[in-house]
Amino acid sequence: MVRINCVNSDTIIAMKEYDLLVIGGGSGGVRAARLAATMGKKVLLAEKAALGGTCVNVGCVPKKLFVFASSYPEEVESAAAYGWTNASIGELDWNTLRENKNREITRLNNAYSDLLSKSGAEVIQGEARLTGEQTATIQTADGAIEVHADKILLASGAAPTRPNLSGAELGVLSDDMFFLPALPKRAAVIGGGYIALEFAGILSGLGVETTICYRADLPLRGFDDDLRAHLANEIAKRGVAIHAGVAPTGLRQNDDELLVDFAEGEPLAADLVLLATGRTPQTATLGLENTKAVADKRGFLMVDENYCVANCQHLYAIGDIIETLALTPVATAEAGVFVSRIYGGEAKTIDYTHIPTAVFSRPPLATAGMSEAAATKQGFRTKIYKSEFRAMRRGFAGKDWQMLMKLVVDEASGRVLGAHLVGDDAGEIIQGIAIAVRMGATKADFDSTIGVHPTSAEEFVTMRDSN
Ligand code: FAD
Ligand code: NDP
Repeated sequence: MVRINCVNSDTIIAMKEYDLLVIGGGSGGVRAARLAATMGKKVLLAEKAALGGTCVNVGCVPKKLFVFASSYPEEVESAAAYGWTNASIGELDWNTLRENKNREITRLNNAYSDLLSKSGAEVIQGEARLTGEQTATIQTADGAIEVHADKILLASGAAPTRPNLSGAELGVLSDDMFFLPALPKRAAVIGGGYIALEFAGILSGLGVETTICYRADLPLRGFDDDLRAHLANEIAKRGVAIHAGVAPTGLRQNDDELLVDFAEGEPLAADLVLLATGRTPQTATLGLENTKAVADKRGFLMVDENYCVANCQHLYAIGDIIETLALTPVATAEAGVFVSRIYGGEAKTIDYTHIPTAVFSRPPLATAGMSEAAATKQGFRTKIYKSEFRAMRRGFAGKDWQMLMKLVVDEASGRVLGAHLVGDDAGEIIQGIAIAVRMGATKADFDSTIGVHPTSAEEFVTMRDSN
């Protein structure tokens, strides 16, 4: 049950009964609110910014639109080989791209609002802060609202972290990249994770001189090492300069340019520095101190199989504030499992060991299952199948761009433990492969599947020699 009271006056502006208060209207929160409301529960969702959260407003969706935009020059460049005479890309009008993107995001914000209202969930615009395990204050434009709830679901997501470097305030964060007033001439991207690689591809594709700087030898720590090395080579071929093995020590303004200093070597000059050095769960301002919930040093909450927060009975958490993979389909799956377990009496679970993922760099990289190193660490004796080739579409256009496909196979059972690739359409290709890997398909199953010809993806069913 939820009661809503106006805190700023003695007058109670509303007094209603709800079953669930959801804090955060992003990927996880919207789905949980919608599903619970559809099941007849009385639901209130509080969102402090825009509905849709990170993914819709400053994440997956606008990022992918920018990735699409960044791919046009290479397509037009290849057009001549396919007989298109005088094909030319022209000039990028950044304002048009940014404003068209903004319009699309507004359309999606409205669609989320419609979906929630059709489900019967109520939405309140404001920042929520817990005052107890079943109570919260929501700061709205019209004043503070006090809410009492039977259950509260925390789905407040994460925000980009500004690293502890001198002059870090001179850099921009991924959130800012979606609203830049103009594109820079030269950009330095700091970090070697998903966001750094995706924006390095976007910026260089849009015509910005781009340098990516990461402190490891290869980008994307945790991914298969062959993919990491292959991706680094391929992004360099597409014009991104790479500074590997460098640790930034600070940023400084030098007349009208920025300088990035490193522990060793020359400073790097740029007009814009993107700090893509990770994200922090938004739990510090949730008022957890008024409950028995405790976030760890990095800001994550511990939950049980019902997503109930440790030490609490009425408080739940999903999405980027718990330490599962920070991906939209994971947050939405957690929302579904939370609702079905709590309100549907179903003991659903998520198979966290088989989550496919793609990095929408240029070229993209995608993966399902274990890397070779992870499989070896888990004690498997592996057979590795690898194929490196020039896709027909690119080869014909004279591009020396190589695709890499790799299967990690358990020698004993023949089971495919991991499938990995770098190259065009990697994200699209891996989705189907991920089903097979999750179902426990063997290399023999892959081999006995007829290929779709002529495609790049057919290579996954024609790799014969292990190495
Ligand atoms: P969010 O979607 O972040 O939602 C949290 C919401 O809570 C926000 O709207 C916030 O304003 C609100 N909130 C926070 N505190 C309060 C409060 N106290 N009161 C009220 N509201 C509050 N994932 C993919 O799967 N594919 C991709 O291609 C992809 N690309 C990405 C690109 C970028 C640049 C970034 C940053 C992320 C990307 N992600 C991608 C990750 C994905 O966006 C997140 O994993 C996902 O959005 C997490 O969902 P969530 O519900 O946990 O949180
Ligand atoms: P990641 O954790 O993926 O990468 C952070 C990077 O920053 C790492 O390369 C790390 O280096 C580096 N780093 C951290 N601190 C410093 C520092 N002080 N100086 C220099 N480098 C530093 O974070 P992202 O922000 O890129 O992405 C966050 C999450 O969002 C991802 O993990 C993913 O779950 C999600 N996401 C998903 C996308 C998708 O599905 N396509 C796209 C974008 C985000 P090191 O490895 O050496 O520690």
